[in-house]
Amino acid sequence: MNYKTNIDFRKETLIKLLNTIIVHEDEIIKALYDDFKKPAFEAVLTETNYVISELKDTIKNLSSWAKPKKVFPSLLNFPSTDYIYKEPYGKVLIIAPWNYPFQLALCPLVSAVAAGNQVVLKPSELTPNTSTIIAKIIAMTFQVNHVEVVQGGVDVSKNLLSQRWDYIFFTGSVPVGKIVAKAAAEHLTPVTLELGGKNPCIVDETANLKLAAKRIVWGKFINAGQTCIAPDYILVQKDMKTKFIGYLKEEITAAYSDKPEQSPDYARIVNTKNWQRLTEMIDHEKVIFGGQTNESDCYIAPTLIDESDIDSLIMKDEIFGPLLPILEYSSDADLQTVISKYEKPLSLYIFTDNTAFAKQIIQDYSFGGGCINDTVVHFSNKRLPFGGVGHSGIGAYHGSLSFDVFSHKKSIVKKANWLDLPMRYAPYKDKLATIKKLLKWI
Ligand code: NAD
Repeated sequence: MNYKTNIDFRKETLIKLLNTIIVHEDEIIKALYDDFKKPAFEAVLTETNYVISELKDTIKNLSSWAKPKKVFPSLLNFPSTDYIYKEPYGKVLIIAPWNYPFQLALCPLVSAVAAGNQVVLKPSELTPNTSTIIAKIIAMTFQVNHVEVVQGGVDVSKNLLSQRWDYIFFTGSVPVGKIVAKAAAEHLTPVTLELGGKNPCIVDETANLKLAAKRIVWGKFINAGQTCIAPDYILVQKDMKTKFIGYLKEEITAAYSDKPEQSPDYARIVNTKNWQRLTEMIDHEKVIFGGQTNESDCYIAPTLIDESDIDSLIMKDEIFGPLLPILEYSSDADLQTVISKYEKPLSLYIFTDNTAFAKQIIQDYSFGGGCINDTVVHFSNKRLPFGGVGHSGIGAYHGSLSFDVFSHKKSIVKKANWLDLPMRYAPYKDKLATIKKLLKWI
């Protein structure tokens, strides 16, 4: 069957994928728990249901997304009708990370298939249970030469990258993103790079502090802080700091009790290596809440850190864990000193009642996307492009845009034959003045 041209076939396979995922949803949730104790609620909200919703939306809209789009013609070409045809790139490689291992592997895969491509997916080796169930679901749904899962670690990934692809979609860290970009350059392969960064979260003096604390605690500690768009650090207006920290402590306890280690709603760090990386960042003299760790269970408590040194270890790179440094600021210059120290982040959050201040921040700083008075939720609107800028990524996806990511846009002018204006043809003698006049009006 030709998935390249046959839209019905693409739809049928996606329906099959949807049904297979629905049938195996409990197994997926269990795999996510087995990998790093992802709570079932978070597994459904951010992984299985997210993919199911993406699939339903794609199946519903596929025919209209795939249709050649008629655009307004240029008068220079009169008489013509102009179209954009969506053509599959061909062979697509998707490399996925471990933190949302089901969603971040399946969502690009759904769109790549919808757009008519052949796909090879390499899920993360750090979440082996989820990778195994993904491989099973894909093998049950697709022919191997249509969509295939290749499991393995860095060597397998490097080997795949040494081959020639028509498109590479990578989600992961900035250093590996650079490796992917280099490999892609070898064959001039187009890429989407969904990377990370150090995401600021600003809380000004007009913010609703209690609600801000609730929303920040949710966005930071969901998935135990292992979210690319989680707030990385807080910049709170100096006079609000003490009160705000009080609210943060209250909200952490309300969400995870005073014994988060026993909470069924709190995930673990993915492996010992990451646990070690994170525990090394904890300066216990600066811990104002949490700080407890347990290596045997890869546990790190939701932790608040009173930070004043932007050169400290925790302020060096993306944290990607449940450690939240809190810095104070008293002027726009203070904000600039901290935010501009880092590469353009994937997200930025502003908690304020001052619309002008929020607008100013959005205008002054370049970042992938973000929220005013919330965290993380911009990810959930399919009508908003999701992606980074600068070191936080190249390209964006979600919703209909994902279909476009995996499609080459082929521009076609269909010229009518009933009229052939002589103006453009040589000899140009005596036509210059006329063409200048005409071009002014077109
Ligand atoms: P990672 O870059 O270590 O790994 C991602 C994938 O690349 C994995 O499949 C891995 O096997 C492969 N890989 C690792 N090293 C490689 C190498 N040297 N050569 C080729 N392939 C290699 O990232 P991770 O630890 O899985 O995920 C965490 C990072 O991903 C964080 O920086 C986070 O911000 C980012 N992230 C970004 C998004 C986004 O949508 N922008 C989403 C999730 C995670």
